[in-house]
Amino acid sequence: MKDPFGRTIDYLRVSVTDRCNEKCLYCMPEGYKGWAQREDHLTSDEIVNTVAVATEIGFRKIRVTGGEPLIRKDIVEILERIWALPGVQTLGISTNATRLSLLAPALKQAGVRSVNVSLDALSPELYRHITGGDLRVVLDGLEAARRQNFEIIKLNCVLMRGINESEYLPLIRYAAGRQMPLRFIELMPLSRTDVLNEFNFLSVQELMRRLSQSGELTPLVDYRPGNGPARYYEFFSPELPKPARLGFIGALTTPHFCETCNKLRLTADGKLRPCLGRIGEIDLLASLRAGGDPADALHAAIANKPEDHEFLQNYQPNRPMTAIGG
Ligand code: SAM
Ligand code: SF4
Repeated sequence: MKDPFGRTIDYLRVSVTDRCNEKCLYCMPEGYKGWAQREDHLTSDEIVNTVAVATEIGFRKIRVTGGEPLIRKDIVEILERIWALPGVQTLGISTNATRLSLLAPALKQAGVRSVNVSLDALSPELYRHITGGDLRVVLDGLEAARRQNFEIIKLNCVLMRGINESEYLPLIRYAAGRQMPLRFIELMPLSRTDVLNEFNFLSVQELMRRLSQSGELTPLVDYRPGNGPARYYEFFSPELPKPARLGFIGALTTPHFCETCNKLRLTADGKLRPCLGRIGEIDLLASLRAGGDPADALHAAIANKPEDHEFLQNYQPNRPMTAIGG
């Protein structure tokens, strides 16, 4: 399926909950209370039926996210049922890894191919400051995932000037030693939290300039694991055990960033979101519960995909990232 700007849309990001057991500074506003009511969350049947219809109209890549998807009790069943759908080519999950020690084998068994893990710091104190969580649990979760031989495990780090700048080299060393791609994500104004200000913003261009001073960055033009928006480079410096694969997601500073956008988001409360950086949403839940065909809402969302995001035009988030689905 093509959107009005000729982009093929075949990637559905499905949020299964707006709740989370961490509270990252950039994602979850302090004291946030805007949770969707339980009855407004899509049920497992509604999620699977929507994904089934999506695959019938051409979606091929599915990533399950949240909030934290692994706190949903029926998550393994949802993943199994999605993987059993004939049109699904790849199934991924985005997680903070806090429950991976427990769930990695079940996820593998359910059909998950690709795991994205948020990891913003390797200093336990800083990790706790940013997420409120326990780094040890997360690193144990990552090791449990590595033992399952998923096709790919990627690390995601949101860069913040003055907060986790000290961490990018330790993270690169960690990722290189384990041959895991590591993606640096520019802070996006997706919530109303204290860190989302210009001082904390650190562009991926600036990071790349810094890395080029201490090592060699070589573009990997054809490398696009997981179909996301990152541009990949190989980074080598004498301090590293092996070259690192680094992805840079610069939604705010990369020219033509939206030209390769291939996705729609489905929020946990059943709204189709054509663009992360624009407020517009289409109410799939209401239509579904009134007996409507999810294909109509999916087609409408594709037809409503804007050419680009509005982050730089005084965009005001109507709800935080945890509720939109990362
Ligand atoms: N809980 C899971 C996790 O942390 O990976 C999945 C959901 S989380 C919302 C998905 C991704 O969104 C994470 O990699 C997170 O770092 C990113 N994210 C959240 N808020 C962000 C923001 N304001 N700017 C940039 N990335 C953000
Ligand atoms: Fe939770 Fe992920 Fe948001 Fe952190 S980024 S608060 S782990 S949903």
